[in-house]
Amino acid sequence: MHGTNITMLLESKLRGESLQLLRKLGELADERGVDAYVVGGVVRDLILGVPTFDLDVVVEERGEEFAEAAAVRLGGSVKAHTRFGTAIMGVPGSGKVDVATARSEVYERPGALPVVTPGRIEQDLERRDFTINSMAVKINAGEFGRLLNLHGGYDDLTKRGVLRVLTERSFEDDPTRILRGVRFAARFGFTLEAETEQLLRQAVAEDRLTTVSGERIANEIVLILGEPEPWAPVERLATWGILDAIVAKWTVPPEAEATFVEIGRLASDGPADGGEAETWRVHFLAMLEPADRSVRNMIVDRLNAGRRIRTLVLELARFEDEARALLASDARVRDSTLHRTLRRYSPELLEFCRARWRGTPVAERVARYVTELAHAATSLAGGDLVALGVRQGPAVGEILAKLLEARIDGAVASREDEIALATKLARELDEGNKS
Ligand code: ATP
Repeated sequence: MHGTNITMLLESKLRGESLQLLRKLGELADERGVDAYVVGGVVRDLILGVPTFDLDVVVEERGEEFAEAAAVRLGGSVKAHTRFGTAIMGVPGSGKVDVATARSEVYERPGALPVVTPGRIEQDLERRDFTINSMAVKINAGEFGRLLNLHGGYDDLTKRGVLRVLTERSFEDDPTRILRGVRFAARFGFTLEAETEQLLRQAVAEDRLTTVSGERIANEIVLILGEPEPWAPVERLATWGILDAIVAKWTVPPEAEATFVEIGRLASDGPADGGEAETWRVHFLAMLEPADRSVRNMIVDRLNAGRRIRTLVLELARFEDEARALLASDARVRDSTLHRTLRRYSPELLEFCRARWRGTPVAERVARYVTELAHAATSLAGGDLVALGVRQGPAVGEILAKLLEARIDGAVASREDEIALATKLARELDEGNKS
């Protein structure tokens, strides 16, 4: 497949705007006397026929200078630069284009950031993670559509269905590729080519992941949990000891599969009344819950997790300590009690509980709260109570809380009922104060 032209594929699979944009960038490259390519995952997805919106372009000159010139020409804007000479260009109506300088990378120490020097496209493709991600398509006008398939990625993608690393040292150089490999294999239903699998397992056994920062690992886990069906990659992370290599004793048992499936089902039902849960966070709770508390804490520390994840982990422990037994009990639980107990939890935690304890009273009661009770409100507001003669101060809050309870339990059904109850409660409070 070296030298094949895939213009027809570009024409049929890319949106018209993206195709036009690539042609214009190719013409600009010609004028500047440089070679330009669309590269990596975009080429992979084009060949697979997966829709792609954002484009990754590599030029054999300084990427930010090319991007600036392109933005002036096309009326776009250049948003950001990175230290590797990458610019993100926005062109109205055509989406986002990452423009990078073709570069070679040398890893001096396993896991450390590589030493980067400008290079040719061939070197830029050599530094990539898997053969299926190492193809480029030239966009200069004269050779528009020429596929560079230097590492056999085309056949690995279309015939063999395998992930294959480019060098023996790949996982050692950048152990995040362990997590990327698991993610892509699951996404495309590919297997790891035999030697690649062996190298990956060896890198795990040699504890290569210890050299990777918490942020980078967390970032890869978020991407895995953002896949449409995250159980397959999570299961592999567990069974191949990858989680245990990130934090000792971290594993996810096979029983968690049903929780993952239920989380996916709840997410596809759309946001519940209790608010929209971010699904990857709900899945993260499912990865974490089977672990001991001390292991959970080590995980959030190792991943350098932010405030929202830390709060969720605390919420999980609080739910286990304070709410679960009540919700699991055979005794009648009043709606107002459910409301009071569950309103302190985030949509993510509640969705997790529905999935984790599916088919039990815990899930039923959480579902009742989320779908029926979460938005319960009184007709009267604080101002109305003051107008009825309640003295401003704590009494207002106390009466409102009691009105809400009565609303939820069905003891009052209208504004008039609330007025009657508020008046009675205010009188009782007054009498209480006098005596
Ligand atoms: P996705 O569809 O999940 O976005 P992608 O392949 O486009 O996948 P990106 O993370 O956007 O993923 O990376 C773009 C390209 O950059 C990849 O296709 C690959 O060629 C290269 N790349 C990204 N991360 C690495 C890495 N850790 N090591 C080597 N090459 C990488």
